[in-house]
Amino acid sequence: MGELMVEKHVKFILAVEKRKDDFESVVMEHLRLNGAYWGLTTLDIMGKLAAVEQDEVISWVMQCQHESGGFGGNIGHDPHVLYTLSAIQVLALFDKIHVLDIDKVSSYIAALQNEDGSFSGDIWGEVDTRFSYIAILSLALMHQLDKVDVGKAVKYILSCKNVDGGFGCTPGAESHAGQIFCCVAALAITGSLHHVDKDLLGWWLCERQVKSGGLNGRPEKLPDVCYSWWVLSSLIMIDRVHWIDKGKLVKFILDCQDKENGGISDRPDDAVDVFHTYFGVAGLSLLEYPGIKPIDPAYALPVDIVNRVILGR
Ligand SMILES: [Zn+2]
Repeated sequence: MGELMVEKHVKFILAVEKRKDDFESVVMEHLRLNGAYWGLTTLDIMGKLAAVEQDEVISWVMQCQHESGGFGGNIGHDPHVLYTLSAIQVLALFDKIHVLDIDKVSSYIAALQNEDGSFSGDIWGEVDTRFSYIAILSLALMHQLDKVDVGKAVKYILSCKNVDGGFGCTPGAESHAGQIFCCVAALAITGSLHHVDKDLLGWWLCERQVKSGGLNGRPEKLPDVCYSWWVLSSLIMIDRVHWIDKGKLVKFILDCQDKENGGISDRPDDAVDVFHTYFGVAGLSLLEYPGIKPIDPAYALPVDIVNRVILGR
């Protein structure tokens, strides 16, 4: 079996962070704050966060904040909970959550909760259980969960539970691994995991492993490194991770590395990107790969950071 090419991945991530004017970065510009979270978290769990210019990153993150309190994906972009969470997570990595106006940011998020307990992603109102997770996680990281109706938020998530044990983006929508992760993690953070049928959901999740060892997101789909995160973290949270073949999944992730230039792709021999690099390395962290810091399956941040931010130690 190959090994994780840590130095090459560090080089790849640092190059992506610096690149501002080529085609890919123009297309991806609106995603930059998400990209910063993926890249920096990957560096941190590989023990290489010191390779970035911390003050530069923080000053750029704070310039992405909109007067409403929410953050856009880049300077001058419209705010959305997706980027607001990334901003909080990046600041958490550097132990800098205190630079935020907590009241303003948490009020922005709390105002996105709807009457039925669901959350919209921004003022345009699209509703999705992804946004429930993002809002709950963001508020938890700022110790502001009491600003929303947590009971109603949990009730809405449970209304998206399906007969196969999984969860969809809205009530009645089909189960999907990404959505299951969001719902299970939101339930974990709010202490509501007892509502999950662990055996039924565990069965659906472990059936996502295909012959190559990789995991897919739904029946009949191709395996993809990003599901290493969504499926694995869900299995860990419901205590059923021993139902998959961990060794085969490690091999699948390592096979998706670009061994020349660094980075990880969705499937072996595809083009690499920072998104799959993060999910690959984070997946290896959940699989207890040697030399990688443990990552928290619900908070999607290194365990030491979660302990510091949530437990104050
Ligand atoms: Zn993917």
